[in-house]
Amino acid sequence: MSGVFGVVSKEDCVKDLFYGTDYHSHLGTEYGGMAVLGEEFSRQIHNISQSQFKSKFFEDFKHMKGNKGIGVISSLDEQPIYIKSKFGPFCLVSCGLIENLEELAKDLLDKGVSFSETSSKTVNETELIAKLITQGNNIIDGIEKMFDAIKGSCSLLLLNKDGIYAVRDRLGYTPLAVGKRDDSWAVASETSAFPNLGFEVVKFIKPAEIILINEDGMMQKTKGADTNQICAFLWIYTGFPASSYEGVNVEMVRERCGRLLAKQDKDIEVDVISGVPDSGIAHALGYAMESKKPYRRPLVKYTPGYGRSYTPPSQETRDLIAKMKLIPIKEIIEGNRIIVCEDSIVRGTQLKNFTIKKLWDGGAKEVHVRPACPPLMFPCIFNLSTRTTHELAARRAIRALEGKDLEDTSEYIDYNSKKYNKMVEWIAKDLGVTTLRYQTIDNIVKAIGLPKERLCLYCWTGECPRQGSSRRANKIEKKASAKKKTRAK
Ligand code: SF4
Repeated sequence: MSGVFGVVSKEDCVKDLFYGTDYHSHLGTEYGGMAVLGEEFSRQIHNISQSQFKSKFFEDFKHMKGNKGIGVISSLDEQPIYIKSKFGPFCLVSCGLIENLEELAKDLLDKGVSFSETSSKTVNETELIAKLITQGNNIIDGIEKMFDAIKGSCSLLLLNKDGIYAVRDRLGYTPLAVGKRDDSWAVASETSAFPNLGFEVVKFIKPAEIILINEDGMMQKTKGADTNQICAFLWIYTGFPASSYEGVNVEMVRERCGRLLAKQDKDIEVDVISGVPDSGIAHALGYAMESKKPYRRPLVKYTPGYGRSYTPPSQETRDLIAKMKLIPIKEIIEGNRIIVCEDSIVRGTQLKNFTIKKLWDGGAKEVHVRPACPPLMFPCIFNLSTRTTHELAARRAIRALEGKDLEDTSEYIDYNSKKYNKMVEWIAKDLGVTTLRYQTIDNIVKAIGLPKERLCLYCWTGECPRQGSSRRANKIEKKASAKKKTRAK
C-alpha cells in the first residue's frame, strides 16, 4: 500500500514534510517522494526498497524550500508526479489501486495524451490519475471526472498554487485526516504523523470529500458521502498503533481484540501471555488484561536495522532477517505454557520457523497461538497487501484436505462448521503448536466498534457487496505474482 502526507504553513514547511512523510514508512516499500512549492516547485523521488526514507532524503530536504508540500511512501510507482496543465502546474501523490488502468490509459493515448513516467505496470498509476484530472474543466471537475472513470480505489493529494487538495477515495477504503497547528495545516493517511509535529486532528475526511488547505485555512470543496467501507485490516495489522481512522484508535482496537481472544479461552491454563513484535503486542496486552495473566516477552525484536520498510531482495535474505530479528529469552520461555498473539497468519512459514521453533527450542512446555483475525482466505482487492491466494495458510490447508483448490470456500469460512475446525486443526499441526484458535469476524467488528457495513472484510469473508469481484482479486493476484517474479530476477 502507500501513505501520503501534506502540509501548508506560513513559514517553510520542509522539515514538517520530511518527518510527516517519514512517519508513513511502514506503509510502503518501493519509493519515497516529496514535492514542495515555494517560488517554484521542487521535487525529489528515491527508491527506498533497500534503505530507509530518512537516509535517502536527509540531504535533499536541506535544499528544498517552500511553504506547502506533499510527500508519499509508495509500494507501487514513482511519485509525486509533476504536470503542467491547462489549470497551471501541479504535483500529485496517490494511494489505492485502479482496476481499469490499461483501458483508461488506452483511451487517453487514443485521444493523443502522452505518458512519460516509468512504472511497474502499463503506465504510472499516479500519472494516469493526473492526466484524467486534466480532462476536467477545472481541478474539482477533473477530480470528479476521474472518480467517474476509475474502477477501484484512489485517495490523493494535489499540490498547486491554491494549496493542497486532499481527496479521499469514493468508497473510503484508505483513510485521510486533517490536522491543525496554529496557522499550519496538515493532511495524512496516518494520524500518528501529527502529535510529534504539534498537529491535532480536526477532521477525518469522508469518502469522495474534497478538502482544500492553504494559508487561509481549511475549505470543504465537495461534501463527500456518509457511508464507506474502510479496510478493517488497518486496525488489525497495517496501521500504526498511535493512529486513528474514523476516530477509532488502532492500539485500543488491538487491545479489545486481545480481550475478546482471551474470552474465547476460558478452558486453558497458561503461564505467560506474549505477542509477536510489533503488531502482535497490543493484542497480547489486551489478552493479558482480560485473563489476568502476566504479559511477558519471550522473544524480543532487535529493532535497529530491522524496520518494516526494508524489503530484502530475495526470499533467502528475508528468511535470514526473520530468523535474526527476534531474540529469545530462555529465562522466560523455559518450562512455561505460552500464549502467542499474532496479528494474522498469512503463509505461516515465518511464524513456524522463526517464532514457534524458538519457543520450543527455548524449552516451552506448551505453545498456544492466537491470531487476532480469522484465517485469511483472499488477497486484498485494493492493493493494500501483496499476498496471493495460493500461498495463504488456510488455502494450503484446504488444498491438503480436499486434494484440490476450491472455488467456493464458504464452508471453511463458517467458524461453526466441521470443515472450519478441520482446517484449523491442519494449520495447527503444520505450525507445530499445542493449540490454535482464531479470532472470529464478529469479534473484529465488535473490537473496531463501527457498523459491519462500514468495514471492508473481504480478506476473510470474500464478500465485497459494492464491488463484487473475485474477478478483480484474480487480476490483482496475477499482477502481484508478476511483480514478485520481476523482483526475483
Ligand atoms: S480486502 Fe482486506 S486488506 Fe484489502 S481493503 Fe479489504 S480488508 Fe483491507
